[in-house]
Order: sequence, then structure tokens, then C-alpha cells
Amino acid sequence: MQTSTRNTVLLTRSRTAVWHPCTQMKQHETLPIIPVARAQGCWLYDCDGRRYLDAVSSWWVNLFGHAEPRINAALVDQLQTLEHAMLAGFTHEPVVRLSERLSAQTGGALGHCFYGSDGASATEIALKMSFHYWRNAGRPAKTEFVSLAGSYHGETLGALSVTDVALFKDTYAPLLRQSVQVPSPDWRQAAPGVSPRAHAVACAKALERHLEQHHAATAALIVEPLVQGATGMAMYDAEYLRQARLLCDRYEVHLVVDEIMTGFGRTGSFFAHQQAAITPDILCLSKGITGGYLPLSSVLVTDRIYEAFYDDEVTRGFLHSHSYTGNALACRAALATLDIFDEDRVIESNRGRAQRMNELCRSLAVHPRVRDFRNCGMIWAFEVADAGPGFGRRFFEAALGHELLLRPIGNTVYFMPPYVISDDEMALLAGRTLELLAAA
Ligand SMILES: *Cc1c(COP(=O)(O)O)cnc(C)c1O
Repeated sequence: MQTSTRNTVLLTRSRTAVWHPCTQMKQHETLPIIPVARAQGCWLYDCDGRRYLDAVSSWWVNLFGHAEPRINAALVDQLQTLEHAMLAGFTHEPVVRLSERLSAQTGGALGHCFYGSDGASATEIALKMSFHYWRNAGRPAKTEFVSLAGSYHGETLGALSVTDVALFKDTYAPLLRQSVQVPSPDWRQAAPGVSPRAHAVACAKALERHLEQHHAATAALIVEPLVQGATGMAMYDAEYLRQARLLCDRYEVHLVVDEIMTGFGRTGSFFAHQQAAITPDILCLSKGITGGYLPLSSVLVTDRIYEAFYDDEVTRGFLHSHSYTGNALACRAALATLDIFDEDRVIESNRGRAQRMNELCRSLAVHPRVRDFRNCGMIWAFEVADAGPGFGRRFFEAALGHELLLRPIGNTVYFMPPYVISDDEMALLAGRTLELLAAA
């Protein structure tokens, strides 16, 4: 790719001064770093005005495109009154309104919102809360956590303990708490002739066998509902969540639902767990919560959990804090995001959008190198056969040459576009991906 001096200078400075996330920096001796000068809608523009379709929503956070006028206006307005104040002993309108509105999205079932600044912190909060609840309830032996094979819940030490992605976890294994992984209901792992639902039921049986034996020592089961993202967009039947809910009730284990990626409409309903008609005990939210503008996470809990901490004794309280807890600007961006869901009837309009995208992907789905083409809400994924080593990096680079930002996970290519992607942009995404497959 030809790059101008402006582009080259910025990427050289970035390679020197910035330690980029999830990256072996040496690869950037050959792999380009794209200097983003500005962004609008679904498009990122580099310093030369070259454009890239943000088909992964800037790491799954952006919902309504870049520079969304209504979120911009809300933030400008918020800047005139309050940018931030500490949340211990103080409060403000944006955090109160956001808490009320998030709770309303659960039908009031989860009535209390705790705040963090990112997804991994939300996982930490959920795990600590669950353990502390059982301790307050006179059950201090409930200290263990169960997660699904292939799960991803963040990369701080506690969150990494319940994560099951070898690439991120193995190096740090000596630092991590043991946790248990039960089989994933991922339908690709079903035996030939076994339906996704039957596979989910069989996996729930495995969970049952584990809880039957270990419930006395188990505090919580943590799951990504319907789609396990970071392991490669593994999708599963909602029946698993229904059964997990029943088992967690029967064995007195918290069900922690991590909707950090799946929340805010990504799987076709506002929250993914709503497709199973269940209520979690603890719900983790982040990523899309601010429309992709500012870091924020929230952990919602039932009254029952909240009340177990409510006491004259200080240490029965949840003494966890982050400096930026409940940041007013982030909360205001989240409120503007919720407004857009109502104003634009986003969940309904995404249904049509997803259907049109599936039609546009018809040739892709049957391409001889494509395996297990799948869709859930506004997520599409497939594996590429005979991908070979280094496929992800090569495909990423080739996609940039086709004006696409695509970042495969192993040999899994996925689309997770902003919800404002137009029909023309979807056609461009599907068509150019097909070209890339032919060339790769
Ligand atoms: C991204 C993600 C996290 C971690 O969020 P960060 O903000 O990156 O720390 C946790 N759980 C799931 C399901 C995620 O997709």
C-alpha cells in the first residue's frame, strides 16, 4: 500500500511511543498501523483520506456510527454543566437516570446498578459481589466460579481466571485462581445429526453433573449469552440459558450473565438473555453502553443481592471502587444511546437490516472455502477452510486494501457492523469479502 509522508510519520511515531493492545509489536515492522484522522458513520478515514469500513464496530463498541449527531450534542451539553464528580457520597442526574433506565430495561428485575470503567472491571465486580454475597449469607465456602469452555470475560487477573482462551491465558496461568470450565453449547461442536437445541440440552446435563457435586463450593456460573465472542463467535441455542437458570436456582448458585458484547441489541433483542426469557442474578454491561464513545461499565443486581450487603456493619458493604465510577460524561453518552434505541426503533429496524444482509451474503455462505456461516442479530461469522498459519494477519491486511476493517479471530472471519450500516455499505462488505476469499 502506498502511504503519504503524513501517514508514515504518524505510524512511525505510534510504533515507537505507543504500546498497542493485543499485539506483538514486532509484527508492525511489516504490518501497517493505520493513522485514523477522523471518522463518520461506518467509516474511518486515514491522514490521506483513504477510508475503511468499520465492520467490527471498533472492537464491538460502536452502535450508531462515528460522530453520531445526537450523542455529540448530549456530550457538548453535559460538558457545560458537569464533566465528573466522585460518586462516593455524591450523585448527579445522569447516573441516577441511567441507573433507572437500565433497570427498566430488565423490567425492574435488576434494581441496583454498580459502575466500573471497562468490561473486565465489570467481571471483577460481579465475581467479588457473588463471593461476598455468600459470605454475608453465612456460606463462606462458596468460593468457586464456573464458566463455559471457550469463554471470554476480560483480561485482568480475576476475569482471566474465568476466561478460557489459551492465547490470552496460558502465559499467566501461574498467577490465576483455578476455575472450572464446563462444555460449551456452541452448536458447531454438536455431533453429526444432533440439533443445536439437543446439543444445548446435553451440555446443560454436564453443567448439572458438575453442580450436583460441587454446589456447596460454587458461588457463581458466568456465561456469555447466545454468542461467545472472543473465542470466535460461537453461537448456541437459548435453551442452554433456560436450563442453566433452573440449575442455578436448584443448586443455589448465582447466574452471572456477561452481556458486555451481546447487550444493547447486538443479538437481535435488547439483551441476549431476554431470548431465553430468564433473569440473571448479576448482569454485566459495557462496550456498546455509551454507543462506543466513552469507557463505562455497569453491573446490575437483584434486590436480594443488594439487600445482603445493606447493614450497620461497614465491611458487609461492597467496598469496591474505581476513580471514575459513574463518570457524568459517560453516563450522558449512555442516556443519549438509550434515547436513540427509542427514537429510531432500533431493535425493529435491525431485523430488516439483518435479513437484507443475509440475502447479500448468500454467495458468501455457499462459497467452497466457507464453513459454518452463521448469523445472530447483527453478528455474522464463518470459518475459512485451508486458511494456513498467519491467516488472520494476512486477511486483515488484504481487507484494508479493499477498504474494509476486518480482524479475523484465527480462521474465523466475522462482521459486527454499526447498526446504521446502509444497504450499499452491506453490499460492499459482502461483495468485497467474497473478492478477498477468491484472492486469499
Ligand atoms: C470485551 C469483553 C469483555 C472485556 O471488556 P473490556 O472492556 O475489554 O475489559 C468481557 N466480556 C465480554 C463478553 C467481552 O466481549
